[in-house]
Amino acid sequence: MNAIVRMPELPLDQRGRPLRDLRLSVIEACNFRCGYCMPADRVPDDYGLDAASRLSFDQIETLVRGFARVGVNKLRLTGGEPLLRKDLPRLVERLARIEGIDDLAMTTNGSLLAHHAQALRDAGLRRLTISLDALEPARFQAMSGGRGDIEPVLHGIAAAERAGFSSLKLNCVVQRGANEDQVLPLVEHFRSSGHVLRFIEFMDVGTCNAWRADQVVPSRELHARIHARWPLHALDAHYRGEVAERHAFHDGAGEIGFVSSVTAPFCGDCHRARVSADGHLYTCLFSGTGTDLRPALAQGESALAQRLSGLWSRRGDRYSEIRGQAAQPPRKRVEMFLIGG
Ligand code: SAM
Ligand code: SF4
Ligand code: SF4
Repeated sequence: MNAIVRMPELPLDQRGRPLRDLRLSVIEACNFRCGYCMPADRVPDDYGLDAASRLSFDQIETLVRGFARVGVNKLRLTGGEPLLRKDLPRLVERLARIEGIDDLAMTTNGSLLAHHAQALRDAGLRRLTISLDALEPARFQAMSGGRGDIEPVLHGIAAAERAGFSSLKLNCVVQRGANEDQVLPLVEHFRSSGHVLRFIEFMDVGTCNAWRADQVVPSRELHARIHARWPLHALDAHYRGEVAERHAFHDGAGEIGFVSSVTAPFCGDCHRARVSADGHLYTCLFSGTGTDLRPALAQGESALAQRLSGLWSRRGDRYSEIRGQAAQPPRKRVEMFLIGG
Protein backbone atom coordinates (compact mmCIF):
# COMPACT_ATOMS: atom_id res chain seq x y z
CA MET A 1 0.00 0.00 0.00
CA ASN A 2 1.40 3.44 -0.95
CA ALA A 3 1.18 5.85 1.98
CA ILE A 4 -0.79 9.00 1.30
CA VAL A 5 1.30 12.15 1.61
CA ARG A 6 -1.21 14.79 2.61
CA MET A 7 -0.36 18.33 1.55
CA PRO A 8 1.30 20.21 4.41
CA GLU A 9 -1.41 22.87 4.21
CA LEU A 10 -4.82 21.50 3.37
CA PRO A 11 -6.85 23.93 1.28
CA LEU A 12 -9.75 25.94 2.68
CA ASP A 13 -12.28 27.51 0.36
CA GLN A 14 -13.28 31.20 0.33
CA ARG A 15 -15.64 30.58 3.23
CA GLY A 16 -13.10 28.67 5.32
CA ARG A 17 -14.49 25.23 4.53
CA PRO A 18 -12.10 22.27 4.19
CA LEU A 19 -12.55 19.52 1.59
CA ARG A 20 -13.46 16.27 3.35
CA ASP A 21 -15.97 14.42 1.30
CA LEU A 22 -15.90 13.21 -2.32
CA ARG A 23 -18.97 12.02 -4.22
CA LEU A 24 -17.71 10.13 -7.22
CA SER A 25 -20.01 9.16 -10.06
CA VAL A 26 -18.85 5.95 -11.73
CA ILE A 27 -21.46 6.02 -14.49
CA GLU A 28 -23.87 8.53 -16.00
CA ALA A 29 -26.45 5.93 -17.09
CA CYS A 30 -29.39 4.74 -15.02
CA ASN A 31 -32.00 2.01 -15.35
CA PHE A 32 -34.62 4.21 -13.63
CA ARG A 33 -36.13 7.49 -14.77
CA CYS A 34 -37.21 9.12 -11.49
CA GLY A 35 -39.19 12.23 -12.38
CA TYR A 36 -37.28 14.42 -9.89
CA CYS A 37 -33.92 13.47 -11.39
CA MET A 38 -33.90 12.02 -14.90
CA PRO A 39 -37.42 12.19 -16.35
CA ALA A 40 -38.08 9.79 -19.23
CA ASP A 41 -39.52 12.50 -21.43
CA ARG A 42 -36.30 14.51 -21.13
CA VAL A 43 -33.60 11.84 -21.06
CA PRO A 44 -33.53 9.19 -23.79
CA ASP A 45 -33.36 5.47 -22.91
CA ASP A 46 -29.87 5.02 -24.32
CA TYR A 47 -28.45 8.01 -22.43
CA GLY A 48 -24.99 7.56 -20.95
CA LEU A 49 -24.09 4.24 -22.44
CA ASP A 50 -20.87 5.42 -24.09
CA ALA A 51 -18.31 3.68 -21.87
CA ALA A 52 -15.35 5.30 -23.66
CA SER A 53 -15.90 8.70 -22.04
CA ARG A 54 -15.71 7.35 -18.48
CA LEU A 55 -12.61 7.42 -16.31
CA SER A 56 -10.95 4.01 -16.18
CA PHE A 57 -10.39 2.21 -12.87
CA ASP A 58 -6.72 3.24 -13.02
CA GLN A 59 -7.71 6.87 -13.46
CA ILE A 60 -10.27 6.66 -10.66
CA GLU A 61 -7.71 5.21 -8.27
CA THR A 62 -5.26 8.04 -9.05
CA LEU A 63 -8.07 10.55 -8.73
CA VAL A 64 -9.03 9.32 -5.26
CA ARG A 65 -5.39 9.32 -4.15
CA GLY A 66 -5.14 12.93 -5.29
CA PHE A 67 -8.26 13.87 -3.33
CA ALA A 68 -6.95 12.07 -0.24
CA ARG A 69 -3.84 14.27 -0.41
CA VAL A 70 -5.96 17.41 -0.09
CA GLY A 71 -7.90 16.14 2.90
CA VAL A 72 -10.70 13.88 1.64
CA ASN A 73 -11.37 10.99 4.01
CA LYS A 74 -14.93 10.09 2.99
CA LEU A 75 -15.70 8.64 -0.40
CA ARG A 76 -19.16 7.87 -1.73
CA LEU A 77 -19.64 6.07 -5.04
CA THR A 78 -22.72 7.15 -6.91
CA GLY A 79 -24.11 7.71 -10.40
CA GLY A 80 -26.43 7.42 -12.42
CA GLU A 81 -26.86 3.94 -11.08
CA PRO A 82 -23.43 2.79 -9.84
CA LEU A 83 -24.31 -0.91 -10.00
CA LEU A 84 -24.56 -0.62 -13.79
CA ARG A 85 -20.79 -0.05 -13.90
CA LYS A 86 -19.17 -3.31 -14.94
CA ASP A 87 -16.91 -4.96 -12.35
CA LEU A 88 -17.70 -2.40 -9.66
CA PRO A 89 -16.50 -4.69 -6.81
CA ARG A 90 -13.04 -4.71 -8.44
CA LEU A 91 -12.98 -0.93 -8.26
CA VAL A 92 -14.22 -0.96 -4.66
CA GLU A 93 -11.40 -3.33 -3.74
CA ARG A 94 -8.83 -0.90 -5.11
CA LEU A 95 -10.38 2.15 -3.46
CA ALA A 96 -10.82 0.43 -0.09
CA ARG A 97 -7.04 0.02 0.11
CA ILE A 98 -6.27 3.72 -0.29
CA GLU A 99 -4.76 5.12 2.88
CA GLY A 100 -6.59 8.16 4.18
CA ILE A 101 -10.02 7.04 2.95
CA ASP A 102 -11.61 5.77 6.13
CA ASP A 103 -15.22 5.83 5.06
CA LEU A 104 -16.19 4.14 1.78
CA ALA A 105 -19.89 4.22 0.94
CA MET A 106 -22.22 3.91 -2.04
CA THR A 107 -25.66 5.24 -2.99
CA THR A 108 -27.78 2.98 -5.19
CA ASN A 109 -31.38 2.57 -6.27
CA GLY A 110 -31.05 -1.02 -5.01
CA SER A 111 -32.59 -2.68 -8.06
CA LEU A 112 -29.47 -4.77 -8.79
CA LEU A 113 -28.18 -4.97 -5.24
CA ALA A 114 -29.27 -8.54 -4.50
CA HIS A 115 -26.69 -9.78 -7.03
CA HIS A 116 -23.84 -7.59 -5.83
CA ALA A 117 -24.19 -7.02 -2.07
CA GLN A 118 -21.88 -9.81 -0.94
CA ALA A 119 -19.18 -9.04 -3.52
CA LEU A 120 -19.25 -5.36 -2.57
CA ARG A 121 -18.96 -6.19 1.12
CA ASP A 122 -16.11 -8.62 0.46
CA ALA A 123 -14.37 -5.95 -1.61
CA GLY A 124 -14.39 -3.53 1.34
CA LEU A 125 -17.53 -1.40 0.95
CA ARG A 126 -18.68 -0.51 4.46
CA ARG A 127 -21.78 1.65 4.13
CA LEU A 128 -24.75 1.60 1.82
CA THR A 129 -27.50 4.11 1.11
CA ILE A 130 -30.49 2.82 -0.83
CA SER A 131 -33.02 5.15 -2.42
CA LEU A 132 -36.60 4.11 -1.75
CA ASP A 133 -39.47 6.49 -2.44
CA ALA A 134 -42.45 4.20 -1.91
CA LEU A 135 -43.46 0.78 -0.61
CA GLU A 136 -46.70 0.38 -2.47
CA PRO A 137 -45.77 -1.40 -5.76
CA ALA A 138 -47.68 0.85 -8.20
CA ARG A 139 -46.43 3.99 -6.47
CA PHE A 140 -42.86 2.71 -6.47
CA GLN A 141 -43.07 1.99 -10.18
CA ALA A 142 -44.46 5.43 -10.90
CA MET A 143 -41.69 7.13 -8.88
CA SER A 144 -39.06 5.22 -10.87
CA GLY A 145 -40.53 6.50 -14.14
CA GLY A 146 -42.12 3.13 -14.88
CA ARG A 147 -38.79 1.30 -14.81
CA GLY A 148 -38.46 -0.22 -11.36
CA ASP A 149 -40.22 -2.72 -9.12
CA ILE A 150 -40.18 -2.67 -5.35
CA GLU A 151 -39.55 -6.43 -4.93
CA PRO A 152 -35.95 -6.50 -6.23
CA VAL A 153 -35.14 -3.51 -4.01
CA LEU A 154 -36.51 -5.25 -0.91
CA HIS A 155 -34.51 -8.35 -1.90
CA GLY A 156 -31.47 -6.12 -2.29
CA ILE A 157 -31.97 -4.78 1.24
CA ALA A 158 -32.25 -8.33 2.59
CA ALA A 159 -29.11 -9.37 0.67
CA ALA A 160 -27.23 -6.39 2.08
CA GLU A 161 -28.25 -7.38 5.62
CA ARG A 162 -27.07 -10.96 5.01
CA ALA A 163 -23.79 -9.66 3.60
CA GLY A 164 -23.13 -7.81 6.85
CA PHE A 165 -24.18 -4.24 6.07
CA SER A 166 -25.80 -2.96 9.24
CA SER A 167 -27.60 0.31 9.74
CA LEU A 168 -28.39 0.95 6.08
CA LYS A 169 -29.56 4.40 5.12
CA LEU A 170 -32.77 4.55 3.11
CA ASN A 171 -33.35 7.80 1.22
CA CYS A 172 -36.84 8.91 0.32
CA VAL A 173 -37.35 12.06 -1.73
CA VAL A 174 -40.81 13.35 -0.90
CA GLN A 175 -42.69 15.18 -3.60
CA ARG A 176 -46.05 16.78 -2.89
CA GLY A 177 -48.84 15.01 -4.76
CA ALA A 178 -46.57 12.10 -5.75
CA ASN A 179 -45.53 10.00 -2.74
CA GLU A 180 -46.51 11.86 0.43
CA ASP A 181 -48.87 9.04 1.30
CA GLN A 182 -45.91 6.64 1.45
CA VAL A 183 -44.22 8.42 4.34
CA LEU A 184 -46.01 6.75 7.26
CA PRO A 185 -45.96 3.26 5.69
CA LEU A 186 -42.21 3.64 5.12
CA VAL A 187 -41.67 4.73 8.72
CA GLU A 188 -43.76 1.82 9.99
CA HIS A 189 -41.81 -0.64 7.82
CA PHE A 190 -38.33 0.51 8.86
CA ARG A 191 -38.94 1.36 12.53
CA SER A 192 -37.12 -1.22 14.64
CA SER A 193 -35.18 -2.52 11.61
CA GLY A 194 -31.88 -1.01 12.73
CA HIS A 195 -31.80 0.97 9.47
CA VAL A 196 -32.16 4.74 9.18
CA LEU A 197 -34.87 6.13 6.94
CA ARG A 198 -34.20 9.68 5.77
CA PHE A 199 -36.64 12.02 4.14
CA ILE A 200 -35.15 14.41 1.60
CA GLU A 201 -36.75 17.60 0.41
CA PHE A 202 -37.31 17.72 -3.35
CA MET A 203 -34.55 19.97 -4.68
CA ASP A 204 -34.31 22.26 -7.68
CA VAL A 205 -31.25 20.45 -9.01
CA GLY A 206 -30.58 20.20 -12.73
CA THR A 207 -32.74 21.61 -15.48
CA CYS A 208 -35.19 18.88 -16.36
CA ASN A 209 -37.25 17.96 -13.28
CA ALA A 210 -39.75 20.85 -13.62
CA TRP A 211 -39.21 21.73 -9.94
CA ARG A 212 -41.83 23.85 -8.24
CA ALA A 213 -41.61 25.22 -4.72
CA ASP A 214 -45.11 24.00 -3.95
CA GLN A 215 -44.00 20.41 -4.56
CA VAL A 216 -41.49 20.57 -1.73
CA VAL A 217 -42.80 18.97 1.45
CA PRO A 218 -40.92 20.77 4.24
CA SER A 219 -39.20 18.50 6.76
CA ARG A 220 -41.00 20.22 9.64
CA GLU A 221 -44.33 19.13 8.14
CA LEU A 222 -43.17 15.52 7.83
CA HIS A 223 -41.70 15.62 11.31
CA ALA A 224 -45.04 16.79 12.72
CA ARG A 225 -46.92 14.05 10.90
CA ILE A 226 -44.57 11.31 12.07
CA HIS A 227 -44.27 12.71 15.61
CA ALA A 228 -48.07 12.66 15.98
CA ARG A 229 -48.04 8.91 15.36
CA TRP A 230 -44.68 7.86 16.84
CA PRO A 231 -43.26 10.57 19.14
CA LEU A 232 -39.74 11.70 18.29
CA HIS A 233 -36.95 13.59 19.98
CA ALA A 234 -33.95 15.31 18.39
CA LEU A 235 -30.47 13.77 18.53
CA ASP A 236 -27.10 15.50 18.22
CA ALA A 237 -25.27 15.31 14.89
CA HIS A 238 -22.59 12.61 14.65
CA TYR A 239 -20.16 15.19 13.26
CA ARG A 240 -20.07 18.78 12.02
CA GLY A 241 -21.56 19.07 8.54
CA GLU A 242 -23.82 16.01 8.76
CA VAL A 243 -26.58 16.69 6.25
CA ALA A 244 -29.44 14.85 7.95
CA GLU A 245 -31.00 16.13 11.16
CA ARG A 246 -31.32 13.08 13.39
CA HIS A 247 -34.38 12.16 15.44
CA ALA A 248 -35.06 9.11 17.61
CA PHE A 249 -38.34 7.41 18.41
CA HIS A 250 -39.28 7.84 22.09
CA ASP A 251 -40.14 4.17 22.25
CA GLY A 252 -36.61 3.07 21.36
CA ALA A 253 -37.46 1.89 17.82
CA GLY A 254 -34.36 3.54 16.33
CA GLU A 255 -33.91 6.78 14.46
CA ILE A 256 -34.89 8.65 11.31
CA GLY A 257 -33.42 11.65 9.52
CA PHE A 258 -34.52 14.71 7.60
CA VAL A 259 -32.45 16.35 4.89
CA SER A 260 -33.84 19.87 4.60
CA SER A 261 -31.77 21.22 1.75
CA VAL A 262 -34.48 23.66 0.69
CA THR A 263 -35.99 24.89 3.98
CA ALA A 264 -32.85 24.78 6.16
CA PRO A 265 -29.74 25.01 3.95
CA PHE A 266 -26.45 23.74 5.29
CA CYS A 267 -23.93 25.37 2.93
CA GLY A 268 -21.89 26.71 5.85
CA ASP A 269 -20.66 23.21 6.63
CA CYS A 270 -20.51 21.87 3.07
CA HIS A 271 -17.23 19.99 2.68
CA ARG A 272 -18.27 18.07 -0.42
CA ALA A 273 -16.84 17.92 -3.92
CA ARG A 274 -18.37 15.94 -6.74
CA VAL A 275 -16.74 14.36 -9.77
CA SER A 276 -18.69 13.13 -12.79
CA ALA A 277 -17.93 9.82 -14.50
CA ASP A 278 -16.02 11.69 -17.22
CA GLY A 279 -13.72 13.36 -14.69
CA HIS A 280 -15.21 16.83 -14.20
CA LEU A 281 -15.12 18.49 -10.79
CA TYR A 282 -18.23 20.24 -9.45
CA THR A 283 -17.85 22.14 -6.19
CA CYS A 284 -21.61 22.47 -5.66
CA LEU A 285 -24.72 20.47 -6.57
CA PHE A 286 -25.91 23.59 -8.33
CA SER A 287 -22.76 24.35 -10.33
CA GLY A 288 -23.34 25.38 -13.92
CA THR A 289 -20.12 23.94 -15.29
CA GLY A 290 -17.45 21.55 -14.13
CA THR A 291 -13.68 21.63 -14.44
CA ASP A 292 -12.04 18.88 -16.47
CA LEU A 293 -9.59 17.12 -14.14
CA ARG A 294 -8.21 14.76 -16.77
CA PRO A 295 -5.25 16.91 -17.85
CA ALA A 296 -4.00 17.13 -14.25
CA LEU A 297 -4.89 13.50 -13.64
CA ALA A 298 -2.69 12.47 -16.56
CA GLN A 299 0.29 13.96 -14.68
CA GLY A 300 -0.32 11.85 -11.57
CA GLU A 301 -1.75 12.22 -8.08
CA SER A 302 0.64 14.91 -6.93
CA ALA A 303 -0.15 17.23 -9.88
CA LEU A 304 -3.82 16.50 -9.40
CA ALA A 305 -3.61 17.40 -5.70
CA GLN A 306 -2.00 20.76 -6.61
CA ARG A 307 -4.76 21.44 -9.11
CA LEU A 308 -7.48 20.48 -6.63
CA SER A 309 -5.97 22.66 -3.97
CA GLY A 310 -6.08 25.68 -6.31
CA LEU A 311 -9.62 24.97 -7.42
CA TRP A 312 -10.93 24.40 -3.89
CA SER A 313 -9.26 27.58 -2.62
CA ARG A 314 -11.31 29.58 -5.11
CA ARG A 315 -14.63 27.97 -4.18
CA GLY A 316 -17.35 30.24 -2.81
CA ASP A 317 -20.51 28.17 -3.43
CA ARG A 318 -23.57 28.58 -1.21
CA TYR A 319 -26.45 28.19 -3.61
CA SER A 320 -29.01 26.86 -1.15
CA GLU A 321 -28.46 29.82 1.16
CA ILE A 322 -29.15 32.34 -1.59
CA ARG A 323 -31.88 30.41 -3.41
CA GLY A 324 -34.87 32.61 -3.91
CA GLN A 325 -33.02 35.92 -3.81
CA ALA A 326 -34.80 38.07 -6.33
CA ALA A 327 -31.69 39.28 -8.15
CA GLN A 328 -30.53 35.82 -9.14
CA PRO A 329 -30.18 35.36 -12.89
CA PRO A 330 -31.48 32.18 -14.54
CA ARG A 331 -28.80 29.53 -14.17
CA LYS A 332 -27.37 26.64 -16.08
CA ARG A 333 -27.13 23.69 -13.68
CA VAL A 334 -25.47 20.32 -13.79
CA GLU A 335 -27.90 17.38 -13.72
CA MET A 336 -28.08 15.29 -10.54
CA PHE A 337 -27.66 12.04 -12.47
CA LEU A 338 -24.23 13.25 -13.67
CA ILE A 339 -22.83 13.92 -10.21
CA GLY A 340 -24.93 11.84 -7.82
CA GLY A 341 -26.48 12.84 -4.52
N1 SAM B 1 -29.11 6.10 -8.70
C1 SAM B 1 -28.68 6.11 -7.35
C2 SAM B 1 -29.84 6.32 -6.41
O1 SAM B 1 -30.90 6.76 -6.87
O2 SAM B 1 -29.66 6.09 -5.23
C3 SAM B 1 -27.58 7.09 -7.07
C4 SAM B 1 -27.63 8.43 -7.74
S1 SAM B 1 -29.00 9.46 -7.31
C5 SAM B 1 -28.73 10.88 -8.29
C6 SAM B 1 -28.52 9.95 -5.67
C7 SAM B 1 -29.60 10.51 -4.79
O3 SAM B 1 -30.03 11.72 -5.33
C8 SAM B 1 -30.82 9.64 -4.62
O4 SAM B 1 -31.00 9.30 -3.26
C9 SAM B 1 -31.93 10.52 -5.14
O5 SAM B 1 -33.10 10.29 -4.44
C10 SAM B 1 -31.37 11.90 -4.94
N2 SAM B 1 -32.02 12.90 -5.81
C11 SAM B 1 -32.05 12.93 -7.15
N3 SAM B 1 -32.75 14.01 -7.60
C12 SAM B 1 -33.15 14.67 -6.49
C13 SAM B 1 -33.91 15.87 -6.28
N4 SAM B 1 -34.40 16.58 -7.29
N5 SAM B 1 -34.12 16.27 -5.01
C14 SAM B 1 -33.63 15.57 -3.97
N6 SAM B 1 -32.91 14.44 -4.10
C15 SAM B 1 -32.68 13.99 -5.35
FE1 SF4 C 1 -31.53 7.03 -11.48
FE2 SF4 C 1 -30.93 7.57 -8.96
FE3 SF4 C 1 -31.66 9.54 -10.63
FE4 SF4 C 1 -33.49 7.77 -9.87
S1 SF4 C 1 -32.39 9.22 -8.54
S2 SF4 C 1 -33.13 8.46 -11.99
S3 SF4 C 1 -32.30 5.93 -9.67
S4 SF4 C 1 -29.85 8.34 -10.80
FE1 SF4 D 1 -23.02 22.46 -0.68
FE2 SF4 D 1 -23.85 23.76 -2.86
FE3 SF4 D 1 -25.55 22.20 -1.47
FE4 SF4 D 1 -24.72 24.54 -0.44
S1 SF4 D 1 -25.96 24.27 -2.28
S2 SF4 D 1 -24.85 22.56 0.64
S3 SF4 D 1 -22.59 24.61 -1.21
S4 SF4 D 1 -23.73 21.50 -2.57
